[in-house]
Amino acid sequence: MHVAIVGSGPSGLYTADAVARLWPETEIDIFDRLPTPYGLVRGGIAPDHQSTKAVARAFERTLARPGTRFFGNVEIGRDLQYEELKAAYDLVIFSVGAENDRSLGIPGENLQGVYGAAAFVGWYNGHPRHHALEPLLEGSALAVIGNGNVAVDVVRVLAKTQAELADSDICEHAARRIDAARLTDLYLIGRRGPVEASFTPIELAELGELERCEIVVDPAELAVDVGPEVPEKEVKVRQRNLEILRSFALRTGEPKPMRIHVLFHAAPVAILGNERVTGLVLERTRVVDGRAELTGERFELPVETVIAAIGYHTPQIPGVPFDEQRGRFKNDEGWVEPGVYAAGWCKHGPRGVVGTNRTDAGILVKRIAEDLSSHPLPEGKPGSAAVATLLQQRGVHVIDFAGWKRIDTAEIARAQPPKPREKFVTAASLIAAAASELESSL
Ligand code: NAP
Repeated sequence: MHVAIVGSGPSGLYTADAVARLWPETEIDIFDRLPTPYGLVRGGIAPDHQSTKAVARAFERTLARPGTRFFGNVEIGRDLQYEELKAAYDLVIFSVGAENDRSLGIPGENLQGVYGAAAFVGWYNGHPRHHALEPLLEGSALAVIGNGNVAVDVVRVLAKTQAELADSDICEHAARRIDAARLTDLYLIGRRGPVEASFTPIELAELGELERCEIVVDPAELAVDVGPEVPEKEVKVRQRNLEILRSFALRTGEPKPMRIHVLFHAAPVAILGNERVTGLVLERTRVVDGRAELTGERFELPVETVIAAIGYHTPQIPGVPFDEQRGRFKNDEGWVEPGVYAAGWCKHGPRGVVGTNRTDAGILVKRIAEDLSSHPLPEGKPGSAAVATLLQQRGVHVIDFAGWKRIDTAEIARAQPPKPREKFVTAASLIAAAASELESSL
């Protein structure tokens, strides 16, 4: 059996692993638009969360399995078409994630100084699509909209000192710009209350451990309890969040030069400014039947940068059935059309942590096996042989696993310890690094 997996992030690689375990003889080709594998593990997980990134070692074993090939720098829809993929492979599994920012849908969203979290995180993580963002960080106040873990990551990275980031793999260009910034007030803004926030306790608690930054929470916002509307499995996490927030609110001590203001019940309604952001208008909300209801009471924050960490959607690929409303591929528990499946965030939207994809991959592959037992595959398809020819004819510079390993080695070699790696951030420099050792050994 020949299987194509499109996207080499956690969902793609856990799916590849599950496929290889169930059908050891399968040839698996893993495509990625970038010259590098690992998706959000490289470009999304915060640079100071190195222990979470260690999962890349397991992913490396998946990529190195005999019978598995990595086709980096190959974009489906540009270098290869969906129809060509279906013609070449018995199974096609999309695991392309959700890399586009959702929009706020409020006036002022297009002003200079407004960024989506995918772009902002991609900038400090050296994603080739976003490395040149050069965000405006010259003001003293910045707002991050959203109460998820991505919003928490963004404020933490901005609040950390260079010493605190020294053993992270934040890109040099971003570390320099954050160091030069004169931010004093970071606003973390939730449109609902502390009970509804989707950040998790470990990530929230980290905000209380910052060297130069204190955390400001209004105790009046915390006079609530986790109610019966919260699903049983989430009660403990929400209670723990409340406890941590209460401990923040009780803190006393020497003032620090920077503050994170945690605001709840505040929905963004407009971003102010002519060309550049000069302020953010928020409207107080109350939570009714789980939804944020506007109260008509508005106030302004004098911020000069706004980062919207409010979720992502999947980009469309020509020919792949797409659910516009949900912003992901149309699918029925992963089934897209005969022989085609979706896994991870392009299947069910942006939720869960890296490990969630492992469980999901097992479920998806079990489902594929059931489908195959009731609808066996037609005659065998050619697999890589067909696509390799097409890619060669089109002059696509494919980066294989060995090419990725050369990039990996070069990035580690050029980092100043204790920094674990200094990433190459453009497609051209990544491709050059993939070829480097090869050329010098010729
Ligand atoms: P998320 O947890 O869904 O958070 C999105 C936030 O945006 C919510 O607070 C949501 O509020 C808010 N929001 C949505 N639309 C809004 C609007 N129009 N105006 C104001 N607020 C709005 O998503 P995420 O933070 O992007 O994270 C994605 C997934 O990655 C999550 O599963 C997360 O746990 C995971 N992740 C994990 C880690 C980690 O483990 N360290 C780090 C980063 C990400 P409502 O709740 O009111 O809709």
